[in-house]
Amino acid sequence: MTQSPVYDVVIIGGGPAGLTAGLYASRGRFSTLLIERGLFGGQIATTEHVENYPGFPNGISGMELGQFMMEQAEKFGLKTISAEASGIELQGGLKIVKTSEGDLVARTVIVAGGSQRQKMAVPGEEEFTGKGVSYCATCDAAFFQDQAVAVVGGGDSAISEALHLAKFASKVTLIHRRDELRATGILQERAFAEPRIQLLWDTTVESVEGKKFVEKLRVNNVKTGTKSAIEVSGVFVSIGFRPDTDYLRGILPLDSAGHIITNERMETDIPGIMAAGDIRHNSAKQAITAAGDGATAALSVERFLTESR
Ligand code: NAP
Repeated sequence: MTQSPVYDVVIIGGGPAGLTAGLYASRGRFSTLLIERGLFGGQIATTEHVENYPGFPNGISGMELGQFMMEQAEKFGLKTISAEASGIELQGGLKIVKTSEGDLVARTVIVAGGSQRQKMAVPGEEEFTGKGVSYCATCDAAFFQDQAVAVVGGGDSAISEALHLAKFASKVTLIHRRDELRATGILQERAFAEPRIQLLWDTTVESVEGKKFVEKLRVNNVKTGTKSAIEVSGVFVSIGFRPDTDYLRGILPLDSAGHIITNERMETDIPGIMAAGDIRHNSAKQAITAAGDGATAALSVERFLTESR
């Protein structure tokens, strides 16, 4: 990349928070660059069907919703590049965003990089990733047509993944560490009504085993201590997310779990650096609230740039 121009705002992350911030900042006629290292649309792009984003009474595919958000922001002038952020440095009144494609210079930064799937951290998980261990049913379910699979977790993501997998797999074993699901009521109702989904309560996975591909999981009943094995061709790990802020340690104030601390205007302690979406402390972690955060962060950028002129 050649020498960076000075952008009014650089946005890190192309999910609903970042794309909404991009829409607002571009409509405000600020020069705005958004960087994304993976899929534009973020987590929503790997969600099969979104039915709780207002305005779509019949729901919408997550991929399509992400594309619409991007098109809408680009229509007003948002520029995007594929790059991974690795740091932010302060230089006078400017911010230098270090990225895999070179340094970007900005007057303000909105950090909206979201979060990454939590790993189980058990033997075999790493080794069989891509060989039966997956973190995305929308991406990989079709590989498991008429085969037995497991989903680990009890939240909205795990149930959504299990329901999607039930359209392909012969059997879906939902492995949850407690005897009560965390997921929202309507998803629980659907899971209990789906004959291909079987619940394995009070159970944790101890290891993932196989030869070339996953063949079985060793599991432990946390109440009785009984250990057993279940035969599956795939395991979908859906046990929450961790914020993607390792590269911001020592730069921005983080909570104990690594989320960025902001005020209600999405401002961090560093003037001109805002955060939005799942990455911030106390986020409701919904596409709609991430979009709201993005709008609020962009309005704070506008205020900051106007006042610092
Ligand atoms: P989550 O709500 O944090 O749930 C994580 C689940 O994994 C919990 O059931 C938890 O068990 C279990 N878990 C955590 N660590 C574990 C471990 N080490 N071993 C075994 N199990 C473990 O995460 P999520 O389901 O990914 O959802 C994240 C956010 O996105 C939520 O706010 C959710 O509402 C939102 N979301 C919404 C939708 C939707 O609206 N349709 C879809 C997806 C996600 P415990 O219950 O025992 O803690």
